[in-house]
Amino acid sequence: MKRALVNGAGGFIGSHLVRRLRNEGFWVRGVDLKAPEFTDSAAQEFLTGDLRDRAFAETAVDGIDDVYQLAADMGGAGYIFTGEHDACVMHNSATINLNTVEAGREAGVKRLFYSSSACIYPDYNQKDPDNPNCAEESAYPAAPDSEYGWEKLFSERLYLAYARNYGLEVHIARFHNIFGPEGTWRGGREKAPAAICRKVAEATGGGEIEIWGDGLQTRSFLYVDECLEGIRRLMESQFQGPVNIGSEEMVTINQLAEMTMRIAGKHLRIRHIPGPLGVRGRNSDNRLIREKLGWAPLRPLEEGMKSTYDWIEGRVQAALSEAVVAGV
Ligand code: NAD
Repeated sequence: MKRALVNGAGGFIGSHLVRRLRNEGFWVRGVDLKAPEFTDSAAQEFLTGDLRDRAFAETAVDGIDDVYQLAADMGGAGYIFTGEHDACVMHNSATINLNTVEAGREAGVKRLFYSSSACIYPDYNQKDPDNPNCAEESAYPAAPDSEYGWEKLFSERLYLAYARNYGLEVHIARFHNIFGPEGTWRGGREKAPAAICRKVAEATGGGEIEIWGDGLQTRSFLYVDECLEGIRRLMESQFQGPVNIGSEEMVTINQLAEMTMRIAGKHLRIRHIPGPLGVRGRNSDNRLIREKLGWAPLRPLEEGMKSTYDWIEGRVQAALSEAVVAGV
């Protein structure tokens, strides 16, 4: 039985990936600072520990064939773009990646998947909300708009250097806004789809929700199941990447909010308030993934948003019931 390690197995994508690998017949070890928040981990073995600690990173890769490196200090715009967490984001994630790749090399792991991000793309190519350029080769000259993006770019290069110098088989994906059930939905690290679902679920009919900025900034969002499909196809291919794993269905944040209201059957006003925003426009460019893997995500955004809204609505209702019981 092939033995896979998922770093970041307590997080959103990592916990889904563990389940997927188990279903495919892998023996899976999950590693994270914390267990998954919403379900038990499906991993045969789950180690709680800090990958900034080199000794723990060595324990994690011991006896492993395939590493999926998803651990990172990350969050949505409210975490990445305020500037308050820059030093932690860079130090923590870079240390995790340095430890993982060197421990993996020493242990003789065969293949390593690294989750990079669309945040590596240059700010100067994402100023027009209708025509952002996120083709893989447009990454240089580099000018990411966040330290989170700079660290991802550094780590892409780190893994590519290990592939070049030590023959490690590496596969790198640049994820574009992955969303779905069992993702962070409150607390400051949540991303736009989860934040909007929560605001709509909490609002009473005829009320309003707040959106950061004018809501005309564009993005695409990829449902988590399609992200897993992309990860597995890339890992089983001969292609190293970096390659985008994202959706090409670009919407404005206002359109995303309106879609969510439609799903919820609520008519709410949108109030635009100042807030951290990121680039003006971003969309996945799937020409390379289609060419190299003969596959690209196609599921309509609204389908994924419906599953996500239903899940978050359930969490909101549960939180309200708990508050009533507690007499808050
Ligand atoms: P997440 O925050 O839910 O998961 C990351 C996990 O890493 C967390 O559970 C966290 O506890 C763990 N972690 C952080 N520091 C650690 C440490 N020192 N030791 C051990 N574990 C540690 O994020 P996610 O959305 O599941 O993202 C997974 C990966 O994909 C991350 O690398 C992220 O940067 C990348 N990515 C995600 C998106 C997205 O839209 N979700 C987009 C682009 C890239």
